[in-house]
Amino acid sequence: QWPIIILIAAGLQTGSVLTSSYLMRAFTLFSLPLFLGTLVAFVWLGFVRQPSLFITAALMMVWTLFIFACAARFGRHYRRSIGYGFENLDLAESLASKNAENEALYLSLQVRINDLNSTLQQFLTEKERSDGLVEQLRVLSMTDGLTGLDNRRSFNEKLQHEWQRACRSAQPLTLALADVDHFKAYNDLYGHQAGDECLRHVGKVLSSVTRRAGDCAARYGGEEFALILPGTTLEEAVTVAEQVLADLKEVAIEHKGSSIAPHVSMSVGVASMGLHDSQDPESLLACADEALYEAKQHGRNRVVTASGLDDVRSGSH
Ligand code: GH3
Ligand code: MG
Ligand code: MG
Repeated sequence: QWPIIILIAAGLQTGSVLTSSYLMRAFTLFSLPLFLGTLVAFVWLGFVRQPSLFITAALMMVWTLFIFACAARFGRHYRRSIGYGFENLDLAESLASKNAENEALYLSLQVRINDLNSTLQQFLTEKERSDGLVEQLRVLSMTDGLTGLDNRRSFNEKLQHEWQRACRSAQPLTLALADVDHFKAYNDLYGHQAGDECLRHVGKVLSSVTRRAGDCAARYGGEEFALILPGTTLEEAVTVAEQVLADLKEVAIEHKGSSIAPHVSMSVGVASMGLHDSQDPESLLACADEALYEAKQHGRNRVVTASGLDDVRSGSH
């Protein structure tokens, strides 16, 4: 029965590798008495009573040493893996707490983003409102308060703009300056307020003849008006100016103070770019002004065209 005892002892020792090798002291305490007891018994049995068992006892010793080495190695790995387990636990815990922190951060960021979005929305609404106000101001700054036509500043800008466009496209550009005849007398006779009302009517008449895109009717100052007529020849512009005089005749604003007509009339000077030696918008304006002067000189209530800065004496209409 000794081989069975040997096998059981070896089996117990081998099995204890799994259960107690993580603590080498426990393994040693468990396996050493077993080993020593079995060894002493076998050495004694082997030498004294059954020499054939000596080999078995020696093998048992070798096996035990091998198992001991295995246990030491296995225990080391076992302890390390347990350590890793704890480390992983710590890591998982710290990850969970980091996760919770991140979630809180995410929520606070979400709140912040919502705040920023509503601020941005307010800002955009305000910007839209202020853009609208700026646009209103821009329009107001370009409009004549009395007649609603373009004012002098807008006229200057548009003339400059149309001049450059005409230069680029080689299209004609014609300018007409119109001045109400004997308007001082009108004011004196009917009062300043009636004079204002008269200027409004005149403004409407001028506005009604500007039909093409780019045409512009402006109040040049006082009772003087201007028409910018891009892409319009001198002859066509004369027709437009004559239409103004005809419309004024039709509107027939009474003017008993005028020596030339029973109604409010205008004198118009027309000048075309290219036909005269106008080098810039200012000289074109000077040409039209000179033609207007001629219209006044030649009896008012008429259209006069300019034929050049030095020789502006062409036919009256
Ligand atoms: P002419 O035929 O030579 O142009 O004579 P006129 O009387 O029209 O010219 P003048 O320059 O002597 O007088 C212009 C008048 O226009 C004088 C001024 O009181 C008047 N006037 C200028 N601006 C306004 C305005 O905004 N409203 C009113 N009611 N009158 C104005
Ligand atoms: Mg006048
Ligand atoms: Mg005048």
